[in-house]
Amino acid sequence: MEKSVKDIKSLNLAELTEYLTGLGEKAFRAKQIYQWMHVRGVSSFDEMTDIPKQLREKLQGDCVLTALRQETVQISRQDGTRKYLFALADGNLIESVLMRYKHGNSVCISSQVGCRMGCRFCASTLDGLVRGLAASEMLDQIYQIGKDIGERISNVVVMGTGEPLDNFESLLKFIELLTDENGLHISQRNVTVSTCGIVPRMRELAERKLAITLALSLHASSQEKRLELMPVANKYDIREVIDACRYYFAQTGRRVTYEYSLVAGVNDTEEDAAQLAALLSGQNCHVNLIPVNPIVERDFVQPDAGAVTKFKNKLEKNGLNVTVRREMGRDIDGACGQLRRKMQKSIENL
Ligand code: SAH
Repeated sequence: MEKSVKDIKSLNLAELTEYLTGLGEKAFRAKQIYQWMHVRGVSSFDEMTDIPKQLREKLQGDCVLTALRQETVQISRQDGTRKYLFALADGNLIESVLMRYKHGNSVCISSQVGCRMGCRFCASTLDGLVRGLAASEMLDQIYQIGKDIGERISNVVVMGTGEPLDNFESLLKFIELLTDENGLHISQRNVTVSTCGIVPRMRELAERKLAITLALSLHASSQEKRLELMPVANKYDIREVIDACRYYFAQTGRRVTYEYSLVAGVNDTEEDAAQLAALLSGQNCHVNLIPVNPIVERDFVQPDAGAVTKFKNKLEKNGLNVTVRREMGRDIDGACGQLRRKMQKSIENL
């Protein structure tokens, strides 16, 4: 997004009020406009029918009001998961996923176009980073999906394409707006941010003392193995990353979730499980095991169900809380970045 144009949906209510009063408007206009954007989710100034035409025209000239164009939606026949492909105003494509659970609707959003972290098993990073998303563009994914299904979204996970802590300021603004009582007012407790482990930012996030859940993509139980899967380990040693998670818990009282993608023959042995249990021993945390989602560009394969159960049992015997993530939307390019990639390839081949 061009920096010179005001991205009005990324302003908090105080900033919006300051902007509007600076134009000589009354403060209550800010609240009205904020509601149009963040509660009703309009995609044009013209839809703000109780705002005088003159002001709408002024805003139209001064600001951008971001809106996503829905390119495709794939609906899983297995579990109702919906995978959306959206186009941003500059033509870049992003993916978001809606998962329907008994406890409510959960949306998984992208935080960047592409990613520069280079995790070996991930499709989102294969072409590198294009740009970070603005707070407004992260919110739009949730607003658009909420409108599409006509239901409330109660949970948000920042676990789609991109590394959220590599887009830190926008992420913080996004969380502020998403959980603001004047907007959708999603509880901080229902927001999860997943990171590959950018240690200084994890510590900074801890110090904000938000009530969000931090998920750490661990994927290995030793520095050597982690290095093979995740280039970010060159920068931050596994011990530093675990320390940052302990710090997060100490600062916020929120239990960290460790994500561990099981890859057959790479990180799924009993020895790996024992090492993982030792690494996390004494920590009030949660381990989420995810059988790796194969991507066509790499030959990583899932362990069989027996190996997954064995791994889980070993961790549980050592006192850890473990869940095996139920795979959703496998029939609709469920894994991160696969849909966007497929679409780009088919556009390139036109
Ligand atoms: N960059 C952030 C968030 C995006 S990735 C992070 O690294 O956490 C979201 C999660 O999906 C991460 O745990 C990531 O490691 C995992 N992931 C990516 N590709 C995957 C695949 N093919 N199979 C299983 N998990 C995958």
